Amino acid sequence: MEQKRIKIKNLLVSNEVGSEVNVKGWVRTKRGNKQINFIALNDGSTIQNLQIVVDVPNFNEDLLKKISTGAAISVIGEVIASQGSGQSVEISATRIEVLGVADPEKYPLQPKKHSLEFLREKAHLRFRTSTFSAVFRIRHAMAFAVHEFFNKKGFFYMHTPLITGSDAEGAGEMFRVSTLNAKNPPLNEDGSINYKEDFFGKETNLTVSGQLEGELGAMALGEIYTFGPTFRAENSNTTRHLAEFWMIEPEMAFYDITDNMDLAEEFLKYMIKYALDNCMEDLEFLSKRLQEEEKGKKDSEKSMELIQKLRFVLENDFVRLTYTEAIEILRNCQPNKKKKFQYLINEWGADLQSEHERYLVEKKFEKPVILIDYPKEIKSFYMKQNEDGKTVAAMDILFPGIGEIIGGSQREEDLDKLVTRMKEMGIPAEDMDWYLDTRRFGTATHSGFGLGFERMMLFVTGMGNIRDVIPFPRTPKNAEF
Ligand code: ATP
Ligand code: MN
Repeated sequence: MEQKRIKIKNLLVSNEVGSEVNVKGWVRTKRGNKQINFIALNDGSTIQNLQIVVDVPNFNEDLLKKISTGAAISVIGEVIASQGSGQSVEISATRIEVLGVADPEKYPLQPKKHSLEFLREKAHLRFRTSTFSAVFRIRHAMAFAVHEFFNKKGFFYMHTPLITGSDAEGAGEMFRVSTLNAKNPPLNEDGSINYKEDFFGKETNLTVSGQLEGELGAMALGEIYTFGPTFRAENSNTTRHLAEFWMIEPEMAFYDITDNMDLAEEFLKYMIKYALDNCMEDLEFLSKRLQEEEKGKKDSEKSMELIQKLRFVLENDFVRLTYTEAIEILRNCQPNKKKKFQYLINEWGADLQSEHERYLVEKKFEKPVILIDYPKEIKSFYMKQNEDGKTVAAMDILFPGIGEIIGGSQREEDLDKLVTRMKEMGIPAEDMDWYLDTRRFGTATHSGFGLGFERMMLFVTGMGNIRDVIPFPRTPKNAEF
């Protein structure tokens, strides 16, 4: 077929009735009778299927038999005005070539609704459903928006290492990287494994965060961001945690905690606006999907309509609140008094669980919340110690339906305070000399945060399980495909 192929998305925009075109794609459905067939064709460029009208007597019967759900076909035909509702145009086929058949006895996706659980087991084919193609088109758009946002602001994209020799942040939840023989590793005299003989001559792991290296970049380039995969061997089988996820970590010299919050809020709103401006068809589809899914629920349990929710977050200021204020609210709230929380809030210092975060966001304020000034005991060593001696300049951003979406802080720039805190927390300063050099030479106020890309994807798409917003999820006992 010599005719140049046009993507369905472009065809639906250009709308040239009367012209001859070539489209290629995968069959979603085929229906009709002995006279006329209708094929819904999708090529991934858009959520919309293109209707192909087939005048059956003009085509070879065997050829038409090969066209079933999942088959790849190439069609040449004339663009005609659509008879039915839906699209403005369809194709009256003159030539059809079957590029690849999909045996209906064996092809796992039928032209009916499949559960998300079923599709997770067919993750290699789920891209071919409307739901997942919408999710992954939006995922692309969101990744692009991340780079656009930071590029416009003059941040530099920095690649931090995936293999790390420091375990300061992730003790206990890191994946070891080793080329030693697992069955028979070289041992020290005391029976422990001798990592001096390992590939890097020391113990190495997959990174849990690019922040520490990001700080080194920021203290020279001014404003940087990382955007890469992150690995955490946490055995928490939740709908919000993956063992391999993508994180965006900006790090900025001369920003204090307020500048940090302002940037984070602007960034989240930029991404939401980008989705509304560029992904409306996919969002509309996902909104309908969600409403469909929640049909059985009581009105009080239904979530806000997806697009309305995105606009709402875009148009309202986030609530900013200290941890101490949050504890007061939580201690006195109904679910705490009636012992409805799994973890009751009794005293200052308690770590907030996602049930508490969601109470604040969904019940109390009904808006995203930025919580600051957490007790130093429940936060990382590098966070700036506040004057009160009890709290650090940490900030967590909490989103409806998600809980924590961003974790960040102003960093401790004072060498002595930092080293003292590391000692208290049992973090070996001698392994971290390279990090401490930023405080030794030209230290300055600086801040940063980490956004979990998949948590943002959950929010934007309205999907309920983090396994459904990354192409191939890695979770405990699952690394298929
Ligand atoms: P949580 O309490 O939800 O486990 P965290 O405190 O461990 O989060 P941070 O270390 O601050 O999270 O990481 C920054 C961001 O990365 C989080 O706000 C969240 O959006 C995301 N994130 C953290 N852990 C995971 C995970 N296992 N899977 C997906 N995203 C994650
Ligand atoms: Mn965690």
